[in-house]
Amino acid sequence: MLEGRNLVKSYGRTTALSGVSLRVEAGEIVAITGPSGSGKSTLLHCLAGIVRPEAGEVTLDGRRIDTLGEAGLTRLRREGFGVIFQFGELVPELTALENVALPLMFNGHGRNDALGVAAGWLDRLELAEIGGRRPGELSGGQIQQVALARALVTGPRIVFADEPTGALDTLAGERVMRLLTETARESRTALLIVTHDNRVAAYADREVALRDGAVLAGSAR
Ligand code: ADP
Ligand code: MG
Repeated sequence: MLEGRNLVKSYGRTTALSGVSLRVEAGEIVAITGPSGSGKSTLLHCLAGIVRPEAGEVTLDGRRIDTLGEAGLTRLRREGFGVIFQFGELVPELTALENVALPLMFNGHGRNDALGVAAGWLDRLELAEIGGRRPGELSGGQIQQVALARALVTGPRIVFADEPTGALDTLAGERVMRLLTETARESRTALLIVTHDNRVAAYADREVALRDGAVLAGSAR
């Protein structure tokens, strides 16, 4: 479904990616592992259309997406892709429910309709009771669960998660990972998770290990 081929990206003299290839099939859960600085985030950002690679190509269903203009990329991110970052990155002024509804409103849904769908997601993730709270009144684990609901609310084909449990303690991290992988499997959403935590990789179908901007020899492709 989504494929990056020979991706190259550098920042000044630092080579973040030196020719990485990676494929994600529909509904597949893939973990990208590796030490800090090995290029995990850069790879995720290239595949998600957030960073443009200098060489190589990214295709979705065989069509190039790395050459899309801003409008095309925005549509893709809104409709086909969901993202979850390390610290949730919720809008602090909005309640949990409104945060989850936001991507739908951006896509043109009316406010009440969007809030209704968002409430369904909070219910499904057993978060209904925190829907009225703002991020400042939530724990780190709850914030990541809300971020998870926000990433899934538009029914994306693939969710990109960059160290989604990196800021959480073990217990909260495990709950978020379980929710994320179970929900992805139920809704047949592909999931690309960046992590330096080996336990997280255990939730994935496949692991791709990076070292110094390249796929570690012997690591599955
Ligand atoms: P990881 O996510 O595995 O920690 P990154 O993809 O963030 O690795 O970074 C890979 C390399 O690229 C690192 O050496 C990092 O310092 C460098 N890098 C990443 N983003 C930038 C940036 N915006 N500006 C300069 N250097 C960067
Ligand atoms: Mg990173």
